[in-house]
Amino acid sequence: MIPITTVQFGQEEEQLVLEVLRSGSVAQGPKVAQLENRFGELFGAPHVVAVNNGTTALVAALQVLDLQPGDEVITSPFTFVATLNAILEAGATATFADIRAEDFNLDPDSVAGRITDRTKVILPVHLYGQMADMDPLEALANDRGLRILEDSAQSHGATYNGRHAGSYGLGTFSLYATKNITTGEGGLITTDDDDIADRLRVLRNQGMRARYVYEMAGNNYRLTDLQAALGIPQLERYASIVDSRRHNAERLIDGLQDVPGIIVPRQLEGRGHVWHQFTVRVTSDAPVDRDEFVQKLAERGVGAGVYYPKLVFDYDAYRTHPRVVMSDVPVAERIVSEVVSLPVHTALTEADLDEIVAAVRAVVGA
Ligand SMILES: *Cc1c(COP(=O)(O)O)cnc(C)c1O
Repeated sequence: MIPITTVQFGQEEEQLVLEVLRSGSVAQGPKVAQLENRFGELFGAPHVVAVNNGTTALVAALQVLDLQPGDEVITSPFTFVATLNAILEAGATATFADIRAEDFNLDPDSVAGRITDRTKVILPVHLYGQMADMDPLEALANDRGLRILEDSAQSHGATYNGRHAGSYGLGTFSLYATKNITTGEGGLITTDDDDIADRLRVLRNQGMRARYVYEMAGNNYRLTDLQAALGIPQLERYASIVDSRRHNAERLIDGLQDVPGIIVPRQLEGRGHVWHQFTVRVTSDAPVDRDEFVQKLAERGVGAGVYYPKLVFDYDAYRTHPRVVMSDVPVAERIVSEVVSLPVHTALTEADLDEIVAAVRAVVGA
């Protein structure tokens, strides 16, 4: 079976983790600082604050914005549940705009129509490794006095007209096991705002400014040096990780772009896609539906994944939630029934790529 995701660590990771183990200081310390600094250097972020996971990163980023009950955060209905959970955890109300089929991300025109007097934050999710259409989103935010928080959990190093994911105000990243860079569990927050960065660091450590001097009601959101040691070498070779993912994506596009009923993903003009996922759409022109497609690929030894099978609010827990405001999102509604992600990770061989292409073609009879 060709798996949909793998983790690959090398000797550098082993050595650095050993170094931390032997140092005897395994909690947050110099390795966390090194991870933050290196991430900031690579992706042009003036401040990087590491936390224990990507969900916490979103929660903390929303918490420092001091949202009041009733304040609204507009986000994508086509995302991992963490995006929504974080908004609710921060005490805000979640509202939704539709997405565009071309990049699976928030449609700025739809966002414009969903802004109310209570809206405080636009929260685009850079899904699958490609950034949302940030120019019009930034213009909207500036126009209406809103904050931007980018859920970049899947888009480390992605760019939009040369600007990195996470550089539009506040950005959050996940370092979970399946993400492009992983520390097992982990998260990062980026910002260019000195004051926000300072508050995030205090919030992360029980609200403590100096020993037993508490400045705010905080929490323990700290990452450990053991985890940071895993992440640092991946940052050093991240360019080659992305090259490999791009190569694989190009091979899959070449092999599949003429297949009737299958729409392959594209890197849009001006965007640097980091190919966290390679997600095709199985349309009604295909001889099988999406779920059969996944099933038949599995029978041929190709692990495919559906990210995500339903809109994020389309569960009882959220449908009846007083702070979840559902709305009509026809494009997202269609897309959830069509998407399938194929393996694109760095462990794929040329033979694997041929096999994936052949399996897809066989399943749809092309
Ligand atoms: C993975 C992910 C998160 C949450 O990150 P964790 O580290 O798993 O908590 C948030 N948003 C999106 C879009 C994700 O893919």
